[in-house]
Amino acid sequence: MIGKPIPNFCLQEHLKPPPQTIMVVDDSSMMRTILQKELELAGFAVIAFGDGVEALEALRWMRQPPDLITLDIDMPRMNGFICCEQIRAWEEQQVIGRSHVQIPVLFVSSNDTFDNRSRGFHLGSLEFISKPFARGEITAAVNKVLRPQSTFSGMTALVVDDNTSLRRMVGSCLERIGLDVIEAENGRQAFELIKQNLVQTDICIVDYEMPVMRGDEFIHLARQLPEAEHLPMISLSGAGETQAVLWMFRAGASDYLVKPFIAEELLARVQVHLQLRRHMKNLEEMNRNLYDKAVNDALTGLRNKRFFQEAFEELFARSLRSQNDISCLFFDLDHFKQVNDTCGHAFGDSVLSTIGQLVKKNIRIGDLAARFGGEEFVVVLPNTGLEKALKVAEKIRAVVEAHHFQDQGRQWPVTVSIGVSSLASDQPVSASSLLQLADQALYLAKDGGRNRVESHTM
Ligand code: GH3
Ligand code: MG
Ligand code: MG
Ligand code: MG
Repeated sequence: MIGKPIPNFCLQEHLKPPPQTIMVVDDSSMMRTILQKELELAGFAVIAFGDGVEALEALRWMRQPPDLITLDIDMPRMNGFICCEQIRAWEEQQVIGRSHVQIPVLFVSSNDTFDNRSRGFHLGSLEFISKPFARGEITAAVNKVLRPQSTFSGMTALVVDDNTSLRRMVGSCLERIGLDVIEAENGRQAFELIKQNLVQTDICIVDYEMPVMRGDEFIHLARQLPEAEHLPMISLSGAGETQAVLWMFRAGASDYLVKPFIAEELLARVQVHLQLRRHMKNLEEMNRNLYDKAVNDALTGLRNKRFFQEAFEELFARSLRSQNDISCLFFDLDHFKQVNDTCGHAFGDSVLSTIGQLVKKNIRIGDLAARFGGEEFVVVLPNTGLEKALKVAEKIRAVVEAHHFQDQGRQWPVTVSIGVSSLASDQPVSASSLLQLADQALYLAKDGGRNRVESHTM
C-alpha cells in the first residue's frame, strides 16, 4: 500500500457534501438571529445581511451563489422587491452551461398583503412567510425547495406496469421526492400485495394495458379492499386511448397521465395527491385524539361519565331484549380524603390512575368500566349474573388491597368498597335503577366496615 492509510473519520469528513448555503436578508438583527439559528440547526450554512445593497454586493463577489435567499420586504436603502429584481437582473448575466440560474427566493415579511404576495409571486418567489412565524415553519419551507427528497419520506408508492423500463423510470422519479417504491408487473400482483397487506401503500400508479389483469380491472377490485378505498390511484394510458382513460375513471381512478409524459407532470400530480392524503391522515389522527378525549377520563384511562351513561343504557336495553343477565359494580375508595391529606393530592392522583389500570386488567373486553366521579368507579358486566359479578368484585377488591401504592417515595395502603347489583336478582326497571341498587349496596359495604363487597341479596 502506498502512503499512509486515511483514518476513517477523515474519509467521512472528506466525503460529506458541503452544507447548502442560505442568504438571509433582513434589517432586524433579532430576525436575522432567529432565522440563522433555525436554519443552522437544520444543517444549512447561513450568511446574513442587514439590507439589499449589502446582499447584492456580496452576491457579485461570491464564488458560488447561495442555494436560496430569504428576503425581508421593508428595509432601509433598498426594499426586498427591488433587491429581488436586481438579483433576477444579475442572474440574467450569469450563464452556467446553457441555462440561466434562478436562485429560489422566499419572502419573509410582516407586511403580508395581497399586493405584496402577488408582487413576490411575479418575481418568482416560491413562498411568502408571514412574520411572526412558528418554529419550524422556515425550515419546512426551505426543505420543500432544497430537500425535495425529505418531502414524502416514509410514504410508499406502488407502481404497476408490465413494461420494466417504464416502471423503473416512474419509480426513480418518485424516489426523488423521498418515496419508497414497490413495483408490480400486473394488476393481479398489485392486488395481492395490497390484499395481503404486504405493503402500506400511499399512492398507486397504474398502467391500463397489462397482461393477466388490466389496470381498470385492478382498480375496480382494489377499491373494494378497505386498505385501498381512499388510496390515490393515477392511471397511465397511451395517447389516443381516450376510452381507456374513461374506463380507468369509471373503475375508480383518482387521476390520469397520458404517455409519454414528462417527469415534472408526474411529480406535480403525485405531490397534489400525497399532500391531500397526508392532510387526511392528520385529520383522521386529530379526530381519533378528539374522540379519545371526549369519551375517556384522562387520569384513569377508563371511560368518562358521559360515555358511560349512554353506553350503559344501550347495554341494559340489549340485556332486557335478549333476556340476558347484566350486573353492575359501584365502588368508592376508602378514606380517600385521608390519603390525600397525608400523602398529598399528587399521590392521590397516582392512586386513581393505578386503580384505573388494575380495573382494566381484571375485566373482560366487552365490560364497561368508567370513572363515575372523583374517587368513584363503576363497572358494568353484560351477560353476567350476581354470583359471577360478586367474584369479579371480590377480585378487584383483593387486587387493590394487595397492591403496593407508591409514588415519589410516598406509599400508603388503599382499599375499596364495592356494591354489586344484577338484573336477574334485583329486578330493576331501568339502567339507572340498577346503578342505584349498586350504590345502595356500596353503602352497606361502607357501613359494614369498608374494604368489602356487598349486594342486597347476600
Ligand atoms: P369513604 O371511605 O367514606 O369513602 O371516605 P372518603 O374520605 O373516601 O370519602 P369522601 O367522599 O369524604 O372523600 C373523597 C375524597 O376524594 C375527597 C376528595 O379530595 C378526593 N378526590 C376526589 N377526586 C379526586 C381527584 O381527582 N384527585 C385526588 N387526588 N383526590 C380526589
Ligand atoms: Mg424590515
Ligand atoms: Mg366518595
Ligand atoms: Mg371514598
